Amino acid sequence: MQEIAQHIAITLKTLRQARGWSLDRTARETGVSKAMLGQIERHESSPTVATLWKIASGLGVSFSQFLETSGVAEGTLLRRGQTAALVERAPGMQVVPLFPFESELGFEFFVIDLAPGALSESTPHARGVVEHIVVIEGEMDVCVEGVWQPLKPGEGLRFAADRAHGYRNRHHSAARFHDVIHYPRRIDV
Ligand code: MN
Repeated sequence: MQEIAQHIAITLKTLRQARGWSLDRTARETGVSKAMLGQIERHESSPTVATLWKIASGLGVSFSQFLETSGVAEGTLLRRGQTAALVERAPGMQVVPLFPFESELGFEFFVIDLAPGALSESTPHARGVVEHIVVIEGEMDVCVEGVWQPLKPGEGLRFAADRAHGYRNRHHSAARFHDVIHYPRRIDV
């Protein structure tokens, strides 16, 4: 957790400075306040998943760039706990990149846990971003175009994520889903 927050802090500062952007400019581009950006860079605050998505979209980079330092080589066996998790106490969401972003393929693959009662609402991602969700444990709802759709294990949904969307768990047991994010063109990472 500590390592993730530190990695996020360093990544944000590096990407921002590479663009020659001030905190003010970065706040305008991402929709995240200058005060919050400063706190994240100084490692004083851990961003929520929703805030980190705003930052990634505004900077034009993938979400997993903030969570992982290296990709997964072909033929690598994935083991649980191998990759670091972004844990959000409220609303109770944990995001683990199983296969971090690959620029050649334009995709990244997460496993996401939603605690009972969790509600996570997301602002639109970059234009053309598509999410593919498949529930693997528990039950959950996905909000697309303002409509909440219930999903059971094995059920999935593909939706345009360049508009507001959300995930929630109204049940008494945890839900786990896979989320494959597709980026439509090469992005700067
Ligand atoms: Mn999303």
